[in-house]
Amino acid sequence: MSIPANFLDELIARSDIVDVISDYVHLTKKGSNLFGLCPFHSEKTGSFSVSPDKQIYHCFGCGKGGGVINFIMEEENLSFPDAVRFLAKRAGMEVPEEDRHSESSRLRTRVLALNKDAARFYYKLLQGSEGRSVQQYLDRRRITRKTAVRFGMGASVDQWDALIQAMIKLGYTKAELLAAGLAVQGKNGGIYDKFRNRLMLPVIDVRGDVIGFGSRVLDKSEPKYMNTSETITYSKRRALYAMNLAKKSKRPNIILCEGNLDVVTLHQAGFDNAVASMGTALTVEQTRLLSRYTKEIVICYDNDNAGKIATERALQLLNNSEFSVRVLQLPNRIVDGNSIKQDADDFIKFQGREAFERLLSGSENGVEYRMAVIASKYNLSSDTQKVAYSRDVSTLLSTLENPVEREVYANRAAEICGISAQAILSEARHAFRTRQKQDRAKQQRKDLNPALELQPKERGARYDNLRSARAEEGIIRLLVLDSALFFPTAPIAPQTFSSPLLAKTYAALLRCAQEGRSNGIAVLSECLTGEEMSHITNILQQPESAAWREQALQDYISIVQSEAAKRSRAAAEDPLTAAIEKNKEKKQYGGKRNG
Ligand SMILES: [Zn+2]
Repeated sequence: MSIPANFLDELIARSDIVDVISDYVHLTKKGSNLFGLCPFHSEKTGSFSVSPDKQIYHCFGCGKGGGVINFIMEEENLSFPDAVRFLAKRAGMEVPEEDRHSESSRLRTRVLALNKDAARFYYKLLQGSEGRSVQQYLDRRRITRKTAVRFGMGASVDQWDALIQAMIKLGYTKAELLAAGLAVQGKNGGIYDKFRNRLMLPVIDVRGDVIGFGSRVLDKSEPKYMNTSETITYSKRRALYAMNLAKKSKRPNIILCEGNLDVVTLHQAGFDNAVASMGTALTVEQTRLLSRYTKEIVICYDNDNAGKIATERALQLLNNSEFSVRVLQLPNRIVDGNSIKQDADDFIKFQGREAFERLLSGSENGVEYRMAVIASKYNLSSDTQKVAYSRDVSTLLSTLENPVEREVYANRAAEICGISAQAILSEARHAFRTRQKQDRAKQQRKDLNPALELQPKERGARYDNLRSARAEEGIIRLLVLDSALFFPTAPIAPQTFSSPLLAKTYAALLRCAQEGRSNGIAVLSECLTGEEMSHITNILQQPESAAWREQALQDYISIVQSEAAKRSRAAAEDPLTAAIEKNKEKKQYGGKRNG
C-alpha cells in the first residue's frame, strides 16, 4: 500500500506527538523534553521521554522509541496503514479512497464483522432447542439467563459445518472464515467448524468489537477450554476477557482471574470488576490495558500449583510497577474431612458472595503473600529450617525499596520464626549488598565492552563494522538536525554504508529531505520494524555538537569511506567476502514491513 506523501505530511503535521501521547501517558515537562511512566514496561519513575522538537519518543528504561505513527502502532497494536487511519480519524481527516481498502485493513474489517455475525449465530442457537445441552450446562453451573445474555454467550452445535454454512449464506468467504480462526483447514483440503458442541464466550474488547472467542466443552472431553488462535483481530497477549464490562465497574480495583467462567460467576455475584487473562500468564501488554482503568490489581488465581506459579510470575511482572497489588487466596474446602482445592467459581457457589467480599477486603498485599509462600516451604520447628527460612525472607525483603516496609515485614517474619528482627534485617542488608555488587560487576563488564551496548538489539541488524557504523549514525543525526548540509547533492551515497539498517534509514531520510518533506522520521515507521525504529530513535537521542557541523560531517564521511575502501580491497582478494557483500546490498533495499 502507498499512502500519498502529501497526505502523510499533512497528517503528521496535525498529529503533534505530545498531544497524541498525552492521551495515553501523563507527561510532565523537564527541560526541553517531557517525561512520563513508560507504557511499554512497568516502572515507578518516569524514564519515558517525548521530544516536541524532534517529534520522537524514547524510553531510557526499555529502549523503545519512534515517531507518532510508531507509537500508535505499538500502543494500539496496529499495522502502519491502520495506525495512519487511526490518526487520521483523530485529526478529522479523510484517508484517500484507494487506501481505505488496503488489504490488511479490509480483512480486519471483514473479520470483525464476521466475528459479530458468528456471535449472533451462536447466541441464537443457545436460545433455541439446538442449544439445550448448553442451556443445561449453564443451569448446572447456576449461570442465569440474564448473565448469559449480558456476556453474549452462545452455543456451537455438534456438526462439522453449521457455522460455515450460515456464514457463507451471509456472504463471507472460506478464506475469511479461516482468517477469523472460526474454521480449520482439513487434510482433504476442505474446511470445518473449529468450535463444535461447546459453550461459546465471545471476547469483546474495550471498543465493543468481537475480537475472538473463548469456549468450553460440556462434558469431560479435551481440550476443556479452547480459544481463538492468533488472528488479525485477536492476540492472546493483549486480550482480557470481560474487560469491556469491568471497565465500567465502580469498584476501586480489578480482579484478575484464571478462567472465563470464574469471571462470569464473579460478575453474577456482583463483582463486576473481574477479568481473565485468556490462557496466558499476565503479560506486559495486558498490564498496559489495565493501567488505563485501575491502579490496584487483585490477583485471584486458582489455589493449585499452576495457579501459584502464575501468581508468582504476575507478582514479578508487577514488582515496582505503578500498581498496588494484592493476592486473594481461596481457601481449600473441607468435604468429609478431605481438603479440596477450589477456584473462584466453586468458592462463590459454596461459600457465597459475602464470604468472597470478606476475602477481597482482607486480601494480602504482594509481600505478605510471598512471605506466606516462603513460610509454607519450611518446617519452622526445626532450627536449620528456621535459618533457611530467614535467609529466603531476607532475600525477599532486600528487594523492597522502602525501609519502613522492610522493617514492618522483618518484624512479622521475626514473629513467625522466632529469630530477632535485627538479625533478619541485617541479613537483608547483606543480600542487598551482594546484589548491588553483582549489578556493579555487570555494569563494569558492560563499560569495558561498550561495543556490545551500541549494537542494535535485533540480531539481523547487528553491526559488522562498528567504527564505520558509529560514523554512519553521526551522518544520520546530522541529516535530521540540518538537512541543508545534504543539498544540492548528498555528500555520500547510502551504498557506502556498512550497516544495511543504517543505509536503509539514511536512504529513506535522504529521499524525504530531497522531496522537501520535513517529517522523515514518521515516514521511517513504514519501512522499519519496531525494534529497528527504537534503535534509530536511540541514535537520534545522542548528542551531536551544534557547532562545526560541516567539519563533523566531513570527519564521519572520511571514516565511512576509508572503511568501505578496506572492504572492497578485501573483497577483491577474497571472492567469498565479495559474495557476502553483494548479498548484503540486496538485503539493504529489499524487505518492507506492513506495506
Ligand atoms: Zn520503557
